[in-house]
Amino acid sequence: MTQATDILPKTRLVDLSHHRKDFPILSTTVRGNPLVYLDNGATTQKPAIVIETIENFYRRHNANIHRGVYSLSQEATDAYEWARRRIAQFINAAENEVVFTRGTTESINLVAASWGRANLKAGDEIILTALEHHSNIVPWQLVAEATGAVIRVIPVNDAGELLLDEYEKLLSPRTKMVAVGHVSNSLGTINDVARIIAKAHAAGALTLIDGAQWVAHHATDVQKLDCDFYAFSGHKLFGPTGIGVLFGKCKHLEKMPPYQGGGDMIESVSFQKTLYAKPPSRFEAGTPNIAGAIGLAAAIDYVSSVGFDQIEPYESDLLAYATEQVARVPGLRIIGAARSKATVISFVLEDPVVPMLQIGMELDHDGIAVRTGHHCCQPLMDRMNVPGTSRISMAFYNTRGDIDAAVASLQRIVKDARAAQPAVAKTPLETKGELPYPQALADSVSSAGDALAEDFEMLEDREAKNEYVLEMGAKLPNSFAVLKKVTPRVVGCMSEVYLVARRKPGTKDVLEFIADADAPIVRGLISVLQGLFSGQRVGEILAYDVEGFFRRIGLDSFISSQRRNGLAGMIYRLRQSAQAIGQTS
Ligand code: PMP
Repeated sequence: MTQATDILPKTRLVDLSHHRKDFPILSTTVRGNPLVYLDNGATTQKPAIVIETIENFYRRHNANIHRGVYSLSQEATDAYEWARRRIAQFINAAENEVVFTRGTTESINLVAASWGRANLKAGDEIILTALEHHSNIVPWQLVAEATGAVIRVIPVNDAGELLLDEYEKLLSPRTKMVAVGHVSNSLGTINDVARIIAKAHAAGALTLIDGAQWVAHHATDVQKLDCDFYAFSGHKLFGPTGIGVLFGKCKHLEKMPPYQGGGDMIESVSFQKTLYAKPPSRFEAGTPNIAGAIGLAAAIDYVSSVGFDQIEPYESDLLAYATEQVARVPGLRIIGAARSKATVISFVLEDPVVPMLQIGMELDHDGIAVRTGHHCCQPLMDRMNVPGTSRISMAFYNTRGDIDAAVASLQRIVKDARAAQPAVAKTPLETKGELPYPQALADSVSSAGDALAEDFEMLEDREAKNEYVLEMGAKLPNSFAVLKKVTPRVVGCMSEVYLVARRKPGTKDVLEFIADADAPIVRGLISVLQGLFSGQRVGEILAYDVEGFFRRIGLDSFISSQRRNGLAGMIYRLRQSAQAIGQTS
């Protein structure tokens, strides 16, 4: 007999999984596991047609453009200009409104430098949002510094949505530019840019939309949006890296001075006077990324053949599924709950705390690629009160199976973290007279952090900082052999690291620890961690923004990422120990 469930429509609207075979990399393995690629916010994978188009260009058509009268140069020029037409059609713009750049970052810098320096003066205002990627913040800061213009910021609520009432209050006759991301790369919030643009225009301001995270997921119509500028990158749209687009309304581009000078952007040059070419050539100085532009047009052809009418419902179903499944992982908190959201899930593991680097590394062991960190959105991370997040970002070639794999891995990470014996020493090691626990460096973690950071700030360059850490390591008492006997190795470190923590005798909630490693630089990092945490109260240790501290001392510039992963492993162990002491105090 037919069951009612057989008649009811299935919730899954479309199945796009057959397109996975178009992407060669999706059938490769990582550490013996099938690749599960969930870092599409950073860059997307490339279909074979894009790879082949680029290869074919270099094999058969390569020549410089706009310069040669010979056939090959004509072919290359035709292909490059075809790419421009294809892209113009994709975003519903006119051909001469499409400027090729290196990517979103360069597109925004172009507008900030060219339009900004020509049009902004002291007291003018540029409105940005708290959601912006650094590439839609820093170029505006540079032009604000040069012109005396002032930056205003639209705030967000706890869900990561823009407070548009606040935006309206910020608008005034002083507002000259409103530059807003279409979709937040770190939280996935989709902004109501049509409304933002209309309000900006009503106040007499221009608008720039950072479309980096929008274009691969939805159709883009710059005329309908009525934005003045729109920026995006090829590599986030299944195209190659090193190519991107700036759309600018013709009436603005025509009035803007060049961004860079060189070949191809001129009408005529003499030492007395140079006449510039019309847009878009005016903004494309030098030999452009010809193969990149053609590859991007091929990517656009490809994604159009899949169709956003198919992609949108599929991704929306996948996001709903992923959100539900990810939220089930115990101790996990999703950061950002906008009502209108793209396929991004940012989260932290809080119970127990598992540092994001650790999460990224452990997922990688299972072949799962996700992004961890601040996602180039430090002001937003500060607003959401997290040092960073782990981020799953999906494209239409991802499946429920990918999500299941990531969730199973996350569940294992949490289970292991919960089961791990906190490394609180049972044996009073110091009574053997071999292992003295270090004294506290200051009377709180934050003063210890400040004192250490000041030492680092006095050092001029990365070599000096590296040297300093090595010197600290050289002074660390040698406890390697003893610790190795009494405690398991710290996971996640490239070198052998052992760490033992305990409640300081005679105190309720003070942690102290001894550690050692077989690598001089790691011994130095242990010394820094001891200075920060040993002899301090567990509440302060758990609340301290240790990633922020390491950013402050510029650790990224002088310690390799593998060593930083190892450091994350030590911090993880210390936090576990602090939690264990806290629970029993
Ligand atoms: N804006 C947003 C919202 C982004 O996500 C990114 C890339 N993460 C950028 C700008 C910068 O793009 P690109 O590095 O390709 O220039």
